[in-house]
Amino acid sequence: MQSNVLLKIVNLSKTYQSKNNVVKALDRINLIINKGEIISLLGHNGAGKTTLSSILATLHPPTSGEILYKGTSIYNNLLDFRKHLGFCPQNANLDVQLNVKDNLIFAGRYYLMPEKLIHERVEELLKLLNLKKYETFQITELSGGTRQRVLIARALIHGPELIILDEPTVGLDPDIRHQLWKIIKTLREKGMTVILTTHYLDEAEVLSDKVCFIKKGKILLTETVKDLKEKHKKDKLEDIFLSLMEEDEIITEL
Ligand code: ATP
Repeated sequence: MQSNVLLKIVNLSKTYQSKNNVVKALDRINLIINKGEIISLLGHNGAGKTTLSSILATLHPPTSGEILYKGTSIYNNLLDFRKHLGFCPQNANLDVQLNVKDNLIFAGRYYLMPEKLIHERVEELLKLLNLKKYETFQITELSGGTRQRVLIARALIHGPELIILDEPTVGLDPDIRHQLWKIIKTLREKGMTVILTTHYLDEAEVLSDKVCFIKKGKILLTETVKDLKEKHKKDKLEDIFLSLMEEDEIITEL
């Protein structure tokens, strides 16, 4: 029988070390991500979500531990793993010298895709992400929500199997957030696996097959939203999150 496991994260740790400080951002994380699911990484500021997602995006290496993609270490062949991976970072690092369409074409060339395929794929993504009317716009002329859609399109240009979205709806209007939710659900319908980091618990509740609570660099739990609600006899993910993730340090005065 074929395994449904896409990524297996084993004992992953990350320590940041500077002249004056040592921070253990991830502490022996174990996590399984299945094909075709949306998993949300949730936690307070500084919990380690971005560290984990950026290690998965191969932006930097872990201090120790392993990441297996379909059973094989991603570190055996990082370039090959990157072909299967799309990453949508928190900061909109699009090329402001290029218009929307050219940003996408440039991304396709980065992945050494054949020119014909790039143009077909760009047209497909402009339609999928409702960007056709913005194709000749400069990046600086776009609203935050449109810019976010361009970032997602860019991450999808090479047809990855897995996409990592780091806080894709931060600072956006509720209706724009809902539009992006639809797009994220469409990605799952197309068979993609989505790793989402977000501070919005309503978003995680609507989108996630599984949620992963991270606290101070450790995984507190990984469960389906349905199981969590049943177990804790609560209707809202936010209530469960708040009761389990209580902060030790609370700012009482300003
Ligand atoms: P947020 O929700 O605020 O984005 P997060 O859960 O994504 O937070 P991380 O950004 O992964 O958390 O940070 C985890 C810990 O690692 C924090 O204590 C942070 O200060 C520290 N950290 C992150 N990046 C670095 C770095 N480049 N150098 C040193 N420490 C870092």
